[in-house]
Amino acid sequence: MQAYIGLGSNLNNPAQRLISALTALQRLPGIRLLHHSRLFSSAPVGPQDQPDFVNAVAALDCHCTPLELLHTLQALELAAGRQRIRHWGERTLDLDILLLDERRIDTPELQVPHPQMIYRAFVLLPLMDIAPNAHLPDGTALSSFLEKVTDQQLSPLTELDCNALIE
Ligand code: ADP
Ligand code: MG
Repeated sequence: MQAYIGLGSNLNNPAQRLISALTALQRLPGIRLLHHSRLFSSAPVGPQDQPDFVNAVAALDCHCTPLELLHTLQALELAAGRQRIRHWGERTLDLDILLLDERRIDTPELQVPHPQMIYRAFVLLPLMDIAPNAHLPDGTALSSFLEKVTDQQLSPLTELDCNALIE
């Protein structure tokens, strides 16, 4: 099963968090990290009195069930000391499943494709970095949603930014 996942963080050195999460994913049995996007910084959605986010998207090859993948990602969030302070608020690490092959899953615990992904520049732009032809299970190109999110500011971190951010 090929999975696209979204990574986000806006607390405690976010760029380093994302790089550590990518490294951790690489080491998990049954999961292979195929590609990852550049890191992007974005203004927060929701409460504005919180730090900017750093976001990225990764493609994984998974030999596990969708729920096993979700639980693995949740374990990584917890290991990063994930705090859920408020809805759409600051978080040390957020790992969301965006797409799983052409599957649709609609259970209380897991919805795939991620219902919010088409509204979020911080998902769509990094996704275009690694999968410009990605589409929804009904065939709709995800690039077709880009024009609706042009008001959301997003900028790629330069290597210099990343080095500066990583302690
Ligand atoms: P959000 O990412 O929307 O800010 P959380 O990360 O706190 O919020 O997720 C809350 C719940 O979302 C999780 O407990 C999980 O069961 C559920 N969930 C549903 N679909 C997904 C998905 N595609 N990826 C990750 N979590 C999901
Ligand atoms: Mg989440």
